[in-house]
Amino acid sequence: MTKSILIVDDSATMRKIIMRGIRQAGIDNADFKEAGDGIEGLKAMEAGTFDLILSDINMPNMNGLDFVKEVTTNVASPPPIVMITTEGSEEVINEAMSRGAKGYLHNPFTPEKIQEVIGPFLN
Ligand SMILES: [Mg+2]
Repeated sequence: MTKSILIVDDSATMRKIIMRGIRQAGIDNADFKEAGDGIEGLKAMEAGTFDLILSDINMPNMNGLDFVKEVTTNVASPPPIVMITTEGSEEVINEAMSRGAKGYLHNPFTPEKIQEVIGPFLN
């Protein structure tokens, strides 16, 4: 069954890398939608439903931390959100988790790591 994944990241290049990484991880039943920041992410959620959201942290307009908070407090039955971050700061990751994120993936990532972190949300 097809799984719908929303990728929220202000870098189009990074969104491509993430999508390619997911395919390389052997996840071949994913359908992707892309958003460039938290605001666009919320708009995408009004327009469709998703099985999983992958979100960057540093973005203009609405960053990943505020996006997570908005989704987990104002969206009915929100899908799980996994943060993708280049900054390894424990503090930022802990803040995202306390706001409702369900996991995190450090960039750069390996296909194995993607499968480990994201795979369980797509079964
Ligand atoms: Mg960014």
